[in-house]
Amino acid sequence: MKKLLPTSTAGSLPKPSWIAEPEKLWSPWKLEGQELIDGKHDALSLSLHEQQQAGIDIVGDGEQSRQHFVTTFIEHLDGVDFDKRETVRIRDRYDASVPTVVGRVFRTKPVFVEDAKFLRSQTDQPIKWALPGPMTMIDTLYDAHYKSREKLAWEFAKILNQEARELEAVGVDIIQFDEPAFNVFFDEVNEWGIATLEKAIEGLKCETAVHICYGYGIKANTEWKKTLGSEWRQYEEIFPKLQKSNIDIISLECHNSLVPMELLELIRGKKVMVGAIDVTSNTIETPEEVANTLRKALQFVDADKLYPCTNCGMTPLSRGVARGKLSALSAGAEVVRRELSL
Ligand code: ZN
Repeated sequence: MKKLLPTSTAGSLPKPSWIAEPEKLWSPWKLEGQELIDGKHDALSLSLHEQQQAGIDIVGDGEQSRQHFVTTFIEHLDGVDFDKRETVRIRDRYDASVPTVVGRVFRTKPVFVEDAKFLRSQTDQPIKWALPGPMTMIDTLYDAHYKSREKLAWEFAKILNQEARELEAVGVDIIQFDEPAFNVFFDEVNEWGIATLEKAIEGLKCETAVHICYGYGIKANTEWKKTLGSEWRQYEEIFPKLQKSNIDIISLECHNSLVPMELLELIRGKKVMVGAIDVTSNTIETPEEVANTLRKALQFVDADKLYPCTNCGMTPLSRGVARGKLSALSAGAEVVRRELSL
């Protein structure tokens, strides 16, 4: 990016009410068949338009083509039985009914490539596309086949690499892997989590990002955050190894959170998507609040590597609130751009 402080979002944005129940996480589709395919494209166009109206520089599909950031991808793979469900503990935090891995996992056809091609046809701006990361994928399943988290993660990394190469080929500029599990399983992250992520980006020439957050504002997450103490130092466990990895960009939660900003020093040299918008609150940030978070981050991130962003996805928010937050992000970034140009 030539523009200083290019803005983007972590990924998901609210869906229009005619495609899925609004202000609800993971709400089911209201359409089916061809109507759903067309509806997803219409929702994507609308979401893109809202990002553009708000002045967002690196745009995305608003994740209009997926119900869930992990399972929608897995639905398209072989080897996972969605009718065979088991209850597992997700991120070591809450129980959920999840599908079962019953055989070798593989991708029979592209998952999001047609949607990405559609997004590419709609804009000349840089586009970012999100995929789940290998560790977060295995953490959202019951494994009755590989019986090894690491083995299954390596299989998913190979599948993600196939998908990522095809996304790159249709013109995606940044491919992002969502790895909230990196904030929980530190030993595994350092032993094989980052290595599987590097497998997923192998051979890519486009930019790559990893998004590591404290999650949507669901009860399980807010309860968990209460147990983390007065400083959230989770990033400290994984930053040294991430700094040495091949990942280009690291997307983080920084606003209204208890993450000490100085931890960013540990990834000095990387591009950082600095979360400057709180996605767990309906209060729209002022441009000055956004600017303040960016100014703090600038102490530890070089200006040409700082990408103002949201803490996480905004799908559970109302469209009006999300639009307000996107505009605040743009306006806050502009305040700091002007300061830097003086
Ligand atoms: Zn997130």
